[in-house]
Amino acid sequence: MTTHFLVGRGTVLPGFLDAHLHLALIDGTVLPSGGIARAIDLGGWLPDDLRTSMPDLAYAHQFINSPGGYPSRASWAEPAWSCAVASIADATTAVDLQAAAGASVLKITLNSVAGPVFGAEVLAALVGRAHERSLPVVAHAEGAGQADRAFTAGVDAFAHTPFSERLADDLVTAMAARMSWISTLDIHGWGRPTAAFEIASDNLRRFHAAGGRVLYGTDLGNGPLPLGLNSGEIAALLDAGLTPGEVLTALCSPAPLGLTLADSRVTFIPGERPRDPLDFTDWLCTARALTRPELEVLA
Ligand SMILES: [Zn+2]
Repeated sequence: MTTHFLVGRGTVLPGFLDAHLHLALIDGTVLPSGGIARAIDLGGWLPDDLRTSMPDLAYAHQFINSPGGYPSRASWAEPAWSCAVASIADATTAVDLQAAAGASVLKITLNSVAGPVFGAEVLAALVGRAHERSLPVVAHAEGAGQADRAFTAGVDAFAHTPFSERLADDLVTAMAARMSWISTLDIHGWGRPTAAFEIASDNLRRFHAAGGRVLYGTDLGNGPLPLGLNSGEIAALLDAGLTPGEVLTALCSPAPLGLTLADSRVTFIPGERPRDPLDFTDWLCTARALTRPELEVLA
């Protein structure tokens, strides 16, 4: 990774990415001062709401769900945020609608705990059409067997490290060969121990060990999370076996999910990276995302 040290000032890194957030639920304009330079919005955000002080963005626009499926009945989601797909024909229309709205990624939900989910044919049609339109597909997979179904259908990434069940080693290894997982470990309890946190951490540890690509992501907008880098997410990644250098890789992915994001900010962290890994998280979380002119003022 390209880094350099500004003598006496701090460390400069590529712009940090939060690969899973919801700008419709938070004030995205404060994220750069919290260290986030780039973001992927995974549902609900409308492109007419762009404000210049936001991180550089890729977005999904609507959640694609089965009729009545998650999150169309969730209290936090407005009806217009969901696009219901009941048939193969609907699948094509739904994908094309997102692309027409400027989406560069498709967000589908397979949450059997909260409502109905797509059958195999509709699921295949969604993934097929998205790939025809060069949109990577990110799935919210929840409930027994849903992560396996999403992977089998060709989904490119999970919006959350699978947390409903311990995935078998051979399945995790197969997923590691071609998927990205967006971490979102800290939403499971926000620092309090939970069963879902333990399951997800165990799945992520094995996915990472098998060579799978991990992207830092928080699901910002979901519960009491800090508007910027989340020390709880960083600590959970380290606990799941990522080294500090691998955490930086998870934050700095140049083309997450194959997407080309704008690159208007870099990450600036005062001081040099501490030698003691125990000090790494505290140091990292003082990061700010700066435009190059802002950086030049410091240099
Ligand atoms: Zn989310």
